[in-house]
Amino acid sequence: SSHKLSGIIEDCCCDYKTVDTLNNQVLHLLLQDLVRTPFFRYFKTRLWCDCPFWPDDGMCRLRDCSVCECPDNEFPKIFKVPAGHLPTDDLTCQEGKPQAIVDRTLDKKAFRGWMETDNPWTYDDERDNSEMTYVNLLLNPERYTGYTGPSAQRIWDTIYQKHSLKDLPGDASPERRVLYKLISGLHSSISVHIARDYLLDEGKNLWGPNPTLLYERVLKHPDRVRNLYFTFLFVLRAVTKAGDYLSQAEYSTDNSLEHQNTLALVNQLVNNNRLRSACPVPYDEAKMWKGENGRELKSQIQSQFRNISALMDCVGCEKCRLWGKLQILGLGTALKILFSEDSNDPVEQLGQVQLQRNEVIALINLLNRLSESVQAVHSLAPEAEKVVKDG
Ligand code: FAD
Repeated sequence: SSHKLSGIIEDCCCDYKTVDTLNNQVLHLLLQDLVRTPFFRYFKTRLWCDCPFWPDDGMCRLRDCSVCECPDNEFPKIFKVPAGHLPTDDLTCQEGKPQAIVDRTLDKKAFRGWMETDNPWTYDDERDNSEMTYVNLLLNPERYTGYTGPSAQRIWDTIYQKHSLKDLPGDASPERRVLYKLISGLHSSISVHIARDYLLDEGKNLWGPNPTLLYERVLKHPDRVRNLYFTFLFVLRAVTKAGDYLSQAEYSTDNSLEHQNTLALVNQLVNNNRLRSACPVPYDEAKMWKGENGRELKSQIQSQFRNISALMDCVGCEKCRLWGKLQILGLGTALKILFSEDSNDPVEQLGQVQLQRNEVIALINLLNRLSESVQAVHSLAPEAEKVVKDG
């Protein structure tokens, strides 16, 4: 394989080459179509920077990477606030302005068939409607934003150090290692997106891949590439495990044709024969939490993950915060799907995990981002290595 890693991926049943082939030929295209559907492209979130950890240090005032919310003509009719409530000018980039406020009665009308339930792994709660807005993810791709320096550094440091995830001792539990690998894999994926979609020339507004950056931040460190693949397969396993639930869900936003189209794509993903035969168990979750202190460890790691989720409110760049929140919610949803079995919740004990609409949107968009990153690593690695070698 072009990124030089070979062999079986840890805790998985398939090798790097198989994952690259599956991703290139099947998953990537399917996911790209899926995230373009109206159901999956609107993410409900609170963009307000509301950091509980370091108040008053001004980091939330960075405005160089604002999110454009859904412009009027992009938004499904059914979401819309009745005429007269909105001024007609400037319907884009309205974060924090009164126009951005969402009518709280809209959700129930727009999204039928979804229940409201809590996620013990995350801090964000879709049921809390204060200052929630809808963002069109297609208009706000995750890419280079210029967010860097102490604010960004501090978030990553806090995640790794405060939660003692780095430099784990040899006898660290497999569960702790999994948490580390998930965060590191997500971090790799974010770095790949920065390198893949970089501002090459500010004056000309020219965007494109930056192979040197890709090499320095990711390819040079084989463990970061490994963790990216691990995270991709972990989330993929969660999606297929929730397959029955996902293939019975309601994906209509405006009309039933949309629901049919989206559902067909979801079914192609969760009941995929190529995937089943090439990589039937992308990640084996059954081995987890089996030790003596399994329960205790789980609640510890759960609260660590919740803290990481809360940290996303401290990300000082709006677009990074949007994708940080979405992807951490997506990971939290994968954790919920894979590790809910022995929970105290009687509904979940029945083997049927209940998911919120927003959790499913985050899960699929996260899987798509990881799939894009795996693909970029695969396709850009030879060029990146050459650029670095030629100096
Ligand atoms: P950083 O990426 O900040 O890494 C910090 C340290 O962590 C490194 O020095 C290294 O020791 C370690 N490290 C790096 N990668 C890994 C890994 N994969 N596994 C384990 N350890 C690792 N910037 C954008 O331009 N666009 C975005 O969309 C964006 N989203 C972000 C989302 C979040 C949640 C955060 C916290 C930051 C985001 N940033 C984004 C900023 C970006 O991630 C970097 O922090 C920034 O570009 C500076 O990079 P850096 O080279 O200093 O290293």
